[in-house]
Amino acid sequence: MSERSVKFYSCANCPAYCCTYDQIETTAADIRRLARHFGLSEEQARRRFTKPVEGGARRALRHRRDEIFGSACRFLDPERRRCTIYAARPRICRVYPGTPRCGFYDFLMSERRSQDDPEYVPSFRRG
Ligand code: SF4
Ligand code: SF4
Repeated sequence: MSERSVKFYSCANCPAYCCTYDQIETTAADIRRLARHFGLSEEQARRRFTKPVEGGARRALRHRRDEIFGSACRFLDPERRRCTIYAARPRICRVYPGTPRCGFYDFLMSERRSQDDPEYVPSFRRG
């Protein structure tokens, strides 16, 4: 999505649900960028930051425990709910959700209206 496109969501007002998907895919270029960012070899970055998925056919970002959703990307700041490697984040994180609307954001806003609480976060966990 072009940065000039109209967006009907605000990531600044969301606890980063999309950073909790189990399979946040990384490409070879993403791993190279992570390696450069951390001053590591590509092999070190691949092993340290990614895990095999689909029987090893692809690599996804590793997770760690998360207070809100149970599990989230290891690069998510658990307090501020922000990416700690924003400049070096994988391509998939740059293009998501790829549409003017974010389904989770619509759901979140609906729940906050229902609860009459602008900071309400639905209590469901991924793992
Ligand atoms: S779930 Fe949607 S609104 Fe929340 S951080 Fe991700 S893209 Fe932004
Ligand atoms: S790299 Fe950053 S933007 Fe991508 S899933 Fe992890 S915390 Fe979220």
